[in-house]
Amino acid sequence: PRLSESALGGLPADVVQPGYNRTTVKAGVVHLGIGAFHRAHQADVFDQLIRAGDPRWGIRGASLRSPDVAEQMNPQDGLYSVVVRDGSSEQVRIIGAVQDVLVAPQDPAALVEALAAADTHLVTLTVTEKGYKLDPATGTLLTEDADVAADLGGLDRPKTAPGFLVAALKLRRERGLPALTAISCDNLPHNGAALSAAVLDMAARHDPALRDWIEANGAFPQTMVDRIVPATTSEDIDALAARLGVVDRAMVKTEPFTQWVVEDRFAGERPDLASAGVQLTQSVAPWEEAKLRLLNGAHSAIAYLGGLAGIDFVHQFVAREAGSRFVNRVWDEAETTLSPPPGLEVAAYRNELMARFANSSLQHRTRQIAMDGSQKLPQRLLATISARLQKGQPIDALALGVAAWMRWQEGRDEGGAAFKVDDPLADTTRSLVERGSSPTDKALALLSLSAVFPADLVGRPDFRAAVTTQAERLARLGALGAIDALLSGNV
Ligand code: NAD
Repeated sequence: PRLSESALGGLPADVVQPGYNRTTVKAGVVHLGIGAFHRAHQADVFDQLIRAGDPRWGIRGASLRSPDVAEQMNPQDGLYSVVVRDGSSEQVRIIGAVQDVLVAPQDPAALVEALAAADTHLVTLTVTEKGYKLDPATGTLLTEDADVAADLGGLDRPKTAPGFLVAALKLRRERGLPALTAISCDNLPHNGAALSAAVLDMAARHDPALRDWIEANGAFPQTMVDRIVPATTSEDIDALAARLGVVDRAMVKTEPFTQWVVEDRFAGERPDLASAGVQLTQSVAPWEEAKLRLLNGAHSAIAYLGGLAGIDFVHQFVAREAGSRFVNRVWDEAETTLSPPPGLEVAAYRNELMARFANSSLQHRTRQIAMDGSQKLPQRLLATISARLQKGQPIDALALGVAAWMRWQEGRDEGGAAFKVDDPLADTTRSLVERGSSPTDKALALLSLSAVFPADLVGRPDFRAAVTTQAERLARLGALGAIDALLSGNV
């Protein structure tokens, strides 16, 4: 049997239950891209608000691409488990906040209606970096993308996240409803500004007056989101089924740590997010920068170096002495570029991050983090590199991370195993690496990718030299050898 409303009564006593009457909950939130991260992060917050007695914040989830999550969640009445793993201990909590999951390609009008409903006040998004349909280097709408082009042609059946939002905001305006607060929860730099740019650009191309109305009435707060949520595996589902006595195909696994910093800027009705532990602030940027450059920067470097060396999981990488020393070198470099917000003590933050990376019960795959590198490199490694070079500081550890991303584009690890590069620009990067014969030539060819590498950075001889040096070492010594060379200073 599956997890469902009727199964709740039979669950073991140590499983935390929703504990509220789900029939009285209204759907104040529509979430676009209901993957693992939303279920372990924002949905947990809305569930806490409902438990605390505010029934306005139930969630209607939507998938913009595949029906998988709807097939996992709808037969379970939207219920699922958040399994919090810390070393050997494990806690299970059932989340009741999600009411249902819509599959946008099957019925786009239903999603537009959900977004345009009078009870809907908030839209949250985790559609991955590429889901915003913006050029990573310039931040403008990718008008040549087929789905964007379709949405620019007409919004009867929207395809993209910005298209759905514009179609719904148009209806809200026509119906005399307030606009919405749309909160990007993706790891994009200045995610609120990015979402607003995509939506306003899309709206302007349909109706300039609608664009102005959205700008005047909508809100796109910037956020920093943090909780490590690895993709669920079938082993995870089997292990939980043994514990619950029912099968939960929508479960997510995560760590105890969670953080959500939200810019205090809302349109219309707003939840008391602070009561659920969310930090509201006027200035999210320093939090976001610290998180992207320390956590995500190290994660990407670990993903490519570890992936090339055949290391499957993040905890295995940092369990090696050289691995954790390398991560600390990346952080030493990144740290000088930060302006830490009040309340963030970088040394303590680094120690806590290392302990989070070392959590062996999460089983966070290097392959998962390696995905979509072209969309991640600019904010995770390149911005840090630019800031260091402008101060005349060396960038060896960061450059090794970039060189590892370059080698990853060849689609073969050091053991000779071939893999598929999972990235919207994979075809382009593949053709660029195939152009060069030496590691230096391949690296220089990839640097011509203007969607990833900003021209002012590529124009710097010190940047090119650092990246090509590390690319040569990676080819000669392998990932672990290149790390050792970096740490020992011997080449
Ligand atoms: P996931 O694979 O479980 O879910 C990804 C979601 O994005 C799915 O709903 C998918 O349909 C949707 N999506 C993918 N490509 C899309 C596109 N081109 N257009 C529209 N929708 C698209 O992944 P996840 O773990 O839920 O992570 C999603 C995002 O959340 C990440 O990309 C990141 O920005 C953010 N995030 C994740 C974590 C984490 O630890 N998993 C931590 C912080 C932030």
